[in-house]
Amino acid sequence: MEGAEGDAPQNGKAAPSSDGLPAGADGSSKRKREGTNGDQQGQPSKKQQAEAVASTSALSATSVEELEINSPADFHVHLRQGPMSELIAPHVAQGGVSLAYVMPNLVPPITTTQMAVEYHKSLKALAPQTDFWMTLYLSPSLTAEEIKTAKESGVVKGVKSYPRGVTTNSDGGIENYETYYPVFEAMQEHDLVLNLHGEVPSDADKDITILNAEATFLSHLHKIHARFPNLRIVLEHATTRAAVEAVKACGSTVACSITPHHLDLIIDDWAGKPLNFCKPVAKTPDDRRALREVIASGHERFFLGSDSAPHPLANKYPSAATHGGAEALIGCGCAAGVYTSIILIPLCAHLLESFGALDKLEGFVSSHGRRFYKAPLSSTSQKLKLKRSAVEGEEGKVPVVCVHPDYREVGDERKDKVQVVPFWAGKKLGWTIAE
Ligand SMILES: [Zn+2]
Repeated sequence: MEGAEGDAPQNGKAAPSSDGLPAGADGSSKRKREGTNGDQQGQPSKKQQAEAVASTSALSATSVEELEINSPADFHVHLRQGPMSELIAPHVAQGGVSLAYVMPNLVPPITTTQMAVEYHKSLKALAPQTDFWMTLYLSPSLTAEEIKTAKESGVVKGVKSYPRGVTTNSDGGIENYETYYPVFEAMQEHDLVLNLHGEVPSDADKDITILNAEATFLSHLHKIHARFPNLRIVLEHATTRAAVEAVKACGSTVACSITPHHLDLIIDDWAGKPLNFCKPVAKTPDDRRALREVIASGHERFFLGSDSAPHPLANKYPSAATHGGAEALIGCGCAAGVYTSIILIPLCAHLLESFGALDKLEGFVSSHGRRFYKAPLSSTSQKLKLKRSAVEGEEGKVPVVCVHPDYREVGDERKDKVQVVPFWAGKKLGWTIAE
């Protein structure tokens, strides 16, 4: 977006959107940015906010100082490989999550049970206290026989489908779902979950762009659900009112994951701002409102999947220096993904409180997803405790950057440096994990 500088906070220095902070949490609502069109659009009116919580028995935000909830699970997370994985796998527990459902889009993608088991082992070595559930990457090499093997592994719980080329490492993604019906049949039989990245590839001739790619995809969801009514399907990281309505209209075997960043961002927040750019892109204020409303309503088929997806800083801000000269930079885009693992549950508490849904936190971050995935609630009897961040001091402050111990010198922008800037870097969250 040209000419936008000057009227927006710089990445990492201020909230990407004004309304994540609950009014009154810091004794005022002065942090709300006023007077820009984007904010007026992004800010639900008092009446709309009231409607969003009308059906809830909302906790009085100011009356609660501590929360104790069943152990949270993140049903969509990217934990990468190599040094990046070493850096971020331990962040899952740090963010308050005890069970992570891990995406398979590595290089090469996780296409066999054996690869998934090995990946699981490497994650466990990095973060022994976290439970990791694994997924396979839907591709032509996947067979009904392999689905049976996957189920028997006890480690693989689902299969992730990426439309070709729409996001990070999805070049091997699918083009036609019917090809995979024998695999879906086997998944239905063995009760593995199908995770759908719900976007179709952009196609200018068909008037499809990143803004309507999700809405255009929804007919595929309905078709697969109609054909395999007992197959558990999750529409991942929904960003639109259309997607919310589509999932609601399906039966009990279809659910939907929602990311915290999509509860905050709208189009204006990512255009020209690499750290907020992810796929699917955040949409309109009305779309964001639909995501907030369905959470505030306590709908059990909607739950947390963070889609936390770290990228080295140099891939967020590619430069001629980091990418081997100006020529290599041409056509080189900004990597899509927002990183939230390290602050995940405090961030969710902060956001849900901001739209009057703090009383729905446990359902959203723990029980709804665990129930759908048939993940035990009882074996996670350890509860997570959250407390309000102290008004003064560093408590609740989001790290400005996370750096692998081997790459300490922040500021060196070499491409292979493992430095990740989290969502809301430097901002203070209203909630902190209690020791
Ligand atoms: Zn993802």
